[in-house]
Amino acid sequence: MTTSVKSVVINKDDQGYRAEYTDFPVENIHQHDVNIDVDYSTLNYKDALAITGKGPVVRTFPMIPGIDLAGTVTESKSDEFKVGDKVLLNGFGVGEKYLGGLSEKASMNADWLIPLPANLTPKQAMQIGTAGYTAMLSIIALEKQGITPQSGEILVTGANGGVGSFAIYLLNKLGFDVVATTGRMNEAEHLEKLGAKRVLSRDEFSSPGKPLAKEQFAGAIDSVGSHTLANVCASIKYGGVVTACGLAQGMDFPATVAPFILRGISLMGIDSVMRPKADRIEAWRRLSELVEAQYLDTISHEITLSEAIANAEALLKGEIRGRVVVKLE
Ligand code: NDP
Repeated sequence: MTTSVKSVVINKDDQGYRAEYTDFPVENIHQHDVNIDVDYSTLNYKDALAITGKGPVVRTFPMIPGIDLAGTVTESKSDEFKVGDKVLLNGFGVGEKYLGGLSEKASMNADWLIPLPANLTPKQAMQIGTAGYTAMLSIIALEKQGITPQSGEILVTGANGGVGSFAIYLLNKLGFDVVATTGRMNEAEHLEKLGAKRVLSRDEFSSPGKPLAKEQFAGAIDSVGSHTLANVCASIKYGGVVTACGLAQGMDFPATVAPFILRGISLMGIDSVMRPKADRIEAWRRLSELVEAQYLDTISHEITLSEAIANAEALLKGEIRGRVVVKLE
C-alpha cells in the first residue's frame, strides 16, 4: 500500500518559509469524505504567492498548495460520489486552509466537489481553472440582471489576465460586442483575435476620474478594482450592470454614488471560492458547452509536479503567459 505520495509541501518553522517537492504521508491527506487521485491541478497567481511566501495565502502548515484540481475518486463516504467518478474542485479554502491539488492524492468534503462535466477532460477543466470559472460566474451575473448582446457593448478590464481573457473569449462566443482595456497595448492584436471589437489603454480608466463620465457600456466585467472600477461604473449606460471580482489595481473603491442613484446602474460582487454548489454546476455546464479544446491548447501549457516550484517563481516575475496546468503522474 502507498504510504506517501509526491507533493509540493510548504512549511514555516525555525528554518523559515519554504516550499519543497517531496514525499507526504497519505494518512495526513486522507482526512475528508472523498479520497481522490489527482489527474491535473493548476498554478494560479494565488498558488504562486503561497509557494513563494510572497503573499499571506497559507493559513496552516504544513500545506499542500493548489486551489484547483480534477481527479478520480478512489474512496468515498458520500452517497454523492462513488469510486471511479471524475470530480472537480475550485476554492473552498483548499490550498490555503486544507491540503490542496499539487499532490498525487487529495481528500475533500463531498460538499466542495462537483462532478466533472461529461464533455470536459480533467486537463481541459484545469486549463479553464478558477480564472475561466470566475469569468463565467461574472457573465451569468450580467445575464441574470437582464444584460443581452442587444443591450450594447461590454467592457472587460485586466484583459490580458486570466479572468479578463476568458471573459472576452466567452462573451464573444455568446454574441456580445466586447471592448477590452489593457496596460499591454502591444497585445491588442491578440485581444482582438480572442474576440474584442475594440481595445483601449487602461490609462483611460486607472487614474482618479469624474463621478459621471460619458455613457458608453451596457455592462462591464472588472477584475482590477480601485480607480478603474470607479471609472468603469461612471461610464456605464443607464440601467447597466458591472461585476467586480478582483483587485489587480487595488482593494480600494474610490467612487461616488452618482452612477447608482442617477443612472440606476448595479454592481454585482463575484466570489468563486465559497460559491454554492448549484452555481458551480451551472457555471461549469456553461463552460463545457462554450469552450473549444483548440482554444484551451493555445492559452495554456503543461508542466509536471516537480516543475511547479520553479514555475511559481517565474509566474510572479511575469515571465509566464497563459495558464499553467500541472499533470500528476
Ligand atoms: P492576472 O494576474 O492573470 O490578471 C490581472 C490583470 O489585471 C493583468 O493581466 C493586467 O491586465 C491587469 N492589471 C494588473 N495590474 C494592474 C494595475 N495596477 N492596474 C490596472 N490593471 C492591472 O489575474 P487573474 O485574471 O487571475 O485575476 C484577476 C483578479 O481577480 C485578481 O485580483 C484575483 O485575485 C481576482 N480573482 C478573484 C476571484 C474571486 O473569486 N473573486 C477568483 C479569481 C481571481 P492587462 O495587462 O491587460 O492590463
